[in-house]
Amino acid sequence: MESVGVLIVGAGVSGLATAAALDERGQRDYLVLEADREIGGYCKTVRRDGFVWDYSGHFFHFKHADIEAWLRARMPGQRIRVVEKKSFIAYKARQIDFPFQKNIHQLPQDEFIDCLHDLYFARAPAELTGRAPAPPGGETDFKAMLYARFGRSIAEKFLIPYNEKLYACDLSTLDRDAMGRFFPQADLTDVIRNMRAADNRSYNSTFTYPEGGAIEYVKALSSAVRPDAVALDEPVVAIDLQRKIARTPRRELGFERLVSSAPFNRLLAIAGMAHDPAVFRSNKVLVFNLGFDRKGQRDVHWIYFPDPRRVFYRVGFYDNIFDADRLSLYVEVAFRQDAPVDVAATRARVLDDLRAEGVIAEHRLVAEHAVIMDPAYVHITRASMAEHARAAGELRARGVHSIGRYGGWTYCSIEDNIVEARALVAAW
Ligand SMILES: Cc1cc2nc3c(=O)[nH]c(=O)nc-3n(C[C@H](O)[C@H](O)[C@H](O)COP(=O)(O)OP(=O)(O)OC[C@H]3O[C@@H](n4cnc5c(N)ncnc54)[C@H](O)[C@@H]3O)c2cc1C
Repeated sequence: MESVGVLIVGAGVSGLATAAALDERGQRDYLVLEADREIGGYCKTVRRDGFVWDYSGHFFHFKHADIEAWLRARMPGQRIRVVEKKSFIAYKARQIDFPFQKNIHQLPQDEFIDCLHDLYFARAPAELTGRAPAPPGGETDFKAMLYARFGRSIAEKFLIPYNEKLYACDLSTLDRDAMGRFFPQADLTDVIRNMRAADNRSYNSTFTYPEGGAIEYVKALSSAVRPDAVALDEPVVAIDLQRKIARTPRRELGFERLVSSAPFNRLLAIAGMAHDPAVFRSNKVLVFNLGFDRKGQRDVHWIYFPDPRRVFYRVGFYDNIFDADRLSLYVEVAFRQDAPVDVAATRARVLDDLRAEGVIAEHRLVAEHAVIMDPAYVHITRASMAEHARAAGELRARGVHSIGRYGGWTYCSIEDNIVEARALVAAW
């Protein structure tokens, strides 16, 4: 039977970053097994009729200059655009700057007053309201956090309807910090200050995007990995934790260590570990990439749609990133984990809703692509965090490490995936 020092499951960003980190340290005894026929995982790019699309809008904002420089050094000839983000919220026939909570002054006056009033009293000290405010950060669920920190109007006009569409679940089932640093916080001072001096900076106020799409960052990682150490179209279907053997449809492989970027619940299943499957919930996202024959709205990169009448929660404009003269959209529609997905019916609704929102008018659709990301946004709950910590600890003790966005059952960026993979290898 073949055996390998480090068996890596998945050739997405996490798996390839692990392999590249091992290779750089001269540890060549590794093998990457990928179920798909291509590398990239969720960071794949599709090219069709002159349009460049990712699996869904993937834009990059590196906090670690060294990681960005490492990647760029491996992307010769690739032009990388640096774009100042312009994102809006479609709200009752207006476009409000994102984030909503910092731009309530752009609402009609009565709604602005409601938001400001509720925000003030949501946060006001007990002597003003006659009731005890929740201790800062004392809320336990996401919905309660939204009400407590932003007040009823901001919560109910945008934060709750939008995030319920995105997560496709009741937000009170999610942990308070389900979105971590990706949630734009704002206090009363920020909101008031923003009325005169707009400062809508967020974790991604500028972003980078390679002309060849997100896959270029994956290719950069893969250029540091031995080509013969990546086996495509070879899923790991079972893992024997006692004997340290992984099985694929083609072979059995012994391993000393195993690093998996597969979704955590699927890893537990193939490793035969007892767990409660109901703890690991997520949504799935159907993405339509749509190319049209003419230009659409300029000066916008993506728009959020909280309106429950619209099937999509977000629409992005690749053409404004590329300065292209034909409208090129990604459209994201979220579903509950167990909901059936009727792609044709959803596509028809997407086109109707794009028309209703004025995103398209006389436009003719000339190219398209659709993909379902399942899981897409995992539901981070107290129970999922506790069960992940328990089971991941047990796996680690057996030399199995579960990493990445889905291996970690978390919300993160590709940079976070690279940081995690490098730290894992550095600790060996
Ligand atoms: C809608 C959406 C938008 C996003 N936007 C951004 C963004 O703008 N910027 C950003 O930085 N990040 C973004 N992300 C996050 C980014 O996609 C992920 O962080 C990253 O792609 C995760 O990489 P990964 O390698 O951990 O997992 P994946 O990409 O899921 O890769 C895992 C790989 O493992 C393979 N695999 C699974 N099971 C097996 C098995 N049993 N055997 C062999 N192979 C297996 C899969 O086929 C896959 O290739 C977004 C994510 C989503 C869902």
